[in-house]
Amino acid sequence: MTLTEEELRRQIVEVGRWIHRQGFVSGYDGNISVRMDGQRILSTPTAISKGMMEPDDLVVVDYDGRQLAGRRKATSELAMHLLFYRRRPDVNAVVHAHPPTATGYAAAGLALNKALVSEVVLSLGCIPLARYGTPGTPELTEALSPLVGQYDAILMANHGVVTCGPDLMRAYFRMETVEHFARISLVTEMLGRQVLLSEQDVDKLLAARQRYFGPGTTAIERSPACPVTEAGRGPGDRFWVSQEELEGLVAEVLERLKAKG
Ligand SMILES: [Zn+2]
Repeated sequence: MTLTEEELRRQIVEVGRWIHRQGFVSGYDGNISVRMDGQRILSTPTAISKGMMEPDDLVVVDYDGRQLAGRRKATSELAMHLLFYRRRPDVNAVVHAHPPTATGYAAAGLALNKALVSEVVLSLGCIPLARYGTPGTPELTEALSPLVGQYDAILMANHGVVTCGPDLMRAYFRMETVEHFARISLVTEMLGRQVLLSEQDVDKLLAARQRYFGPGTTAIERSPACPVTEAGRGPGDRFWVSQEELEGLVAEVLERLKAKG
């Protein structure tokens, strides 16, 4: 089903409200675009809250980023979107946002690449981390470039998340999945243990993924079947801190503050 320009404009405005309402963006953060045809892309403009846009705030650009229509200026992150449209004929929509938990992982230098939740392995494979690049410059697109071909959701170090899809709804749902999965991962880290899916289970999910979505991603951290053993430290315990260690850390911080006066 091909949507009219008017429908696409309304859809972008609606998705803008959703990412704003869910706290995936603040201020003027984030941007959304859709492929209109072989010549034109419809995009959010710069310097506007994604929660407060109207359909005629959007801008139309070509595949070289030249503005074709719209009274506002195109987003400064347009190159990130164009990279997907040029390299991925299957992609018709791109969403960029800064959802706090997933962006926290990106700022901690961590990819979301652990096989912790079956449906995430099935839908996204893994969510890699692109190295840092200054927003709005070729550095950022260079960092994304090696990943754009195979991944539908990418964390960008010290910045945020970008997702794509065959239509805007699916690109948006992938953004939801990334943030939801980041929260689940964080909970497992707070609990001090992570039971990764076994290699065989991951293989089955990736085979199913391949059947549904075509060649998939395999860069997932797997463990041999994780024994669920006595309470305490599990295989993913590197964030686990004991009460004693915690007290030691607090004492150390207090000491340093005292030394500073
Ligand atoms: Zn951004």
